[in-house]
Amino acid sequence: MSDLEIETEGINDAHDGSLDSVTSVFPSTASEDPQKKIVVPELLAILPVRDTVVFPGTIVPLTIGREKSKRLVDAVITNTKIVGIVAQRHSDVEDPALEDLYRVGTAAAILKLLKLPDGTHSIIVHGLVRFGIEAITQTEPYLIGRCHTREDTVSESTELDALVQTARQQAQRVIELSPGVPEQAAEVLGSIDKPGALCDFLAANLQLNLIQRQEILETFDVVERLKKTAAHLAKQIDVLELSAKIQNDVKGQVEKQQREYFLHEQMRAIQKELGQTDGRDVEINELREDIRKAKMPEGVEKEANRELDRLTKIPQASPEYSNSVDYIEWLCELPWSISTEDHLDIKQAEKILDADHFDLEKVKKRILEFLAVRKLNPKGRSPILCFSGPPGVGKTSLGQSIARAMGRKFIRMALGGVRDEADIRGHRRTYVGSMPGRIVQEIRKAGANNPVFMLDEVDKLGQDFRGDPSSALLEVLDPAQNHSFQDHYLGVPFDLSRAMFIATANYMDAIPAPLLDRMEILEIPGYTSFDKLAIARTYLVPRQREENGLTPAQLKIDDSALSAIIEGYTREAGVRNLEREIGSICRGVAARIAQRRKHPSVIHKADLSEFLGPVKIEPELALRTSTPGVVTGLAWTPAGGDILFVEATAMPGKGHLQLTGQIGDVMKESAHTAYSLVRSRAKQLGIDQKRLSDQDFHIHVPAGAIPKDGPSAGITMFTALVSLLTNRHCKKDVAMTGEITLRGLVLPIGGLKSKALAAHRAGIHTIVIPHRNEKDLIDIPPDIRKQMKFIPVEKAEQVLTNALAQPTRANAPKRARSRKRG
Ligand code: ADP
Repeated sequence: MSDLEIETEGINDAHDGSLDSVTSVFPSTASEDPQKKIVVPELLAILPVRDTVVFPGTIVPLTIGREKSKRLVDAVITNTKIVGIVAQRHSDVEDPALEDLYRVGTAAAILKLLKLPDGTHSIIVHGLVRFGIEAITQTEPYLIGRCHTREDTVSESTELDALVQTARQQAQRVIELSPGVPEQAAEVLGSIDKPGALCDFLAANLQLNLIQRQEILETFDVVERLKKTAAHLAKQIDVLELSAKIQNDVKGQVEKQQREYFLHEQMRAIQKELGQTDGRDVEINELREDIRKAKMPEGVEKEANRELDRLTKIPQASPEYSNSVDYIEWLCELPWSISTEDHLDIKQAEKILDADHFDLEKVKKRILEFLAVRKLNPKGRSPILCFSGPPGVGKTSLGQSIARAMGRKFIRMALGGVRDEADIRGHRRTYVGSMPGRIVQEIRKAGANNPVFMLDEVDKLGQDFRGDPSSALLEVLDPAQNHSFQDHYLGVPFDLSRAMFIATANYMDAIPAPLLDRMEILEIPGYTSFDKLAIARTYLVPRQREENGLTPAQLKIDDSALSAIIEGYTREAGVRNLEREIGSICRGVAARIAQRRKHPSVIHKADLSEFLGPVKIEPELALRTSTPGVVTGLAWTPAGGDILFVEATAMPGKGHLQLTGQIGDVMKESAHTAYSLVRSRAKQLGIDQKRLSDQDFHIHVPAGAIPKDGPSAGITMFTALVSLLTNRHCKKDVAMTGEITLRGLVLPIGGLKSKALAAHRAGIHTIVIPHRNEKDLIDIPPDIRKQMKFIPVEKAEQVLTNALAQPTRANAPKRARSRKRG
């Protein structure tokens, strides 16, 4: 029936019949004679199989369960041992007919039959050659079909060689990547030299489904078969590489964690052996103890403990660890429940205020009232006091005295240049290097939650795109809100309501309106020369002497010297520079004593130049006002009142007015108003109309580098223009202040007291003031009121009458002179 010879012995020896060892599809090691063609018998017993494709050249175990198949095996095993193995299209068909089978299968030799106790048969078959079924000729007792052999079509070509080489390389890669494949697989692969057989071997071993395998079986053209196989191989490599990468990554992570854990455990064990405890454990325990001791409010303590729990899970070396420790330390170090005890005795407070400060009666009185109310009703809403005045008038030292009188800590926080909300409230902890805001920092420094908290220079508060710090300050000052002040860094509320806030400002106008609204302003406008002398004598000299380690026997400064310092070396509303100059003298004397050089024990006026150098401030008043067109005005600056000169001059032109001297819009407008008034009243004022149309005018306000603004120089400008145009110079000891209108009215101004003090310092004896400011004269110290003359005016003409001298002969208009001559 068959001309086929099959050598089965070797294979049977290799597989001892135990099916368990046959787990894969092996290539046949039968030495096939390449010359010998395998031909399939015309009528072949057909064995339908489910979900399996047997390829030529492979040895495959098959389980036989169906009775019909068993009959077939039993019949064939005693006969030719050759069966045609064909895959069923659908695995659920029990008794397949021709249409249920693929038309191409593999003729195979049964190498071994094994009958198992459960009644199933197992066979090992060796695939030989492809065949095609033409028809089924018999269905019982098993299928028999009329078949014909299907040869591979193959012709030598470079493409074929290239495909074979690629397939081999790919297969090699698959073997490398598949951990379960034995090393011998590569050798087996190398031993297969027929390209078609190579494909069959690979297809049998790749993870393909039935349809893909059958497709390869039905591809008789070897080049095509190689291409299809290569595609499957490439896909398999992709999958294997990806899974290898995933496995590697996972493995890497697990290994790192395991390694760290292992090292940590080792370290702990070593430390335990050495009797040391883990540094981190110690730190965490300390923090836990600190949290307990800090007596925080419940919510805050909860937050601190939550952070501590988090800390135990963070590696000590990570930056997050130290950030977290910092945060907990901040929480622990804040005086949540530490307050100093108030001992508020109003009599004692009065004594302290008097001991530290000369005069300032009005302010002291208000402070004492304030303290008395606080004593009677500690929980009441007291206003925020704000000391307003030029530098060096004692605002800070008043604050310090209040703290001393109440027995509280004193904090001074300068607000000058604070432009960012975060300066007050801090940055959130998500920012690198974040810190709490200044309020919380200062409270920690103070170590008590009820200090006297001085917010210095609220008028210097800036504002920019990073948020308005004044709104944060509002929250600080508002008794309705400040019991739960939120700092961004802390993230938990802090109660500021026990602190006593005091603000200071140089210049009230610059305080943000909502803040101003919350505050009660106490003005300290500055001191007269007389006050300064008293302050220097009783406060500054003793203090500086002590600071420089001198005794009263070693140094005294007599009144003549002190007055000379006040007049010739300082020009200020406060006493800061005065104190500095006194300090210089003390240092000079101390140095001489240390060097054992001779020194005067009483400093007189004549000794000053030796210690302080030449006189710094020359009286320039007389010089300035000796020409028509120059008039002395009074200004109000953040540094206190000051005198100011207005200079007017004329040049050929067409009646234009030019203004210089860094003057602001309001001051410019008052210059134009003054000019219009002069023009409109030229005739009454005795001014030559022609001069007004033939000339340009220039008003300058020195010093040119200092910005000036406000309407109060109106009458000064008016007077300067009239003085120029009528050739009458201004009396040199007269100064003036007042706003002017187009109708020639003089309107009231602010800061009269500061201005009067400045005028007095500058040697002015008469001040022209708006009639409506007359009521403010009460604030002016009596000795100054005695020494100076204040002239209230309602109309511009009255200013001229009081300020301008009568035209002298030399100053008389030219026309008059020529007429006289003529
Ligand atoms: P401010 O805060 O207004 O700028 P300070 O409080 O710093 O001024 O005062 C400057 C110096 O002048 C301080 O040494 C202060 O004691 C002293 N001083 C100011 N006014 C008086 C006063 N009325 N009596 C005694 N010393 C004064």
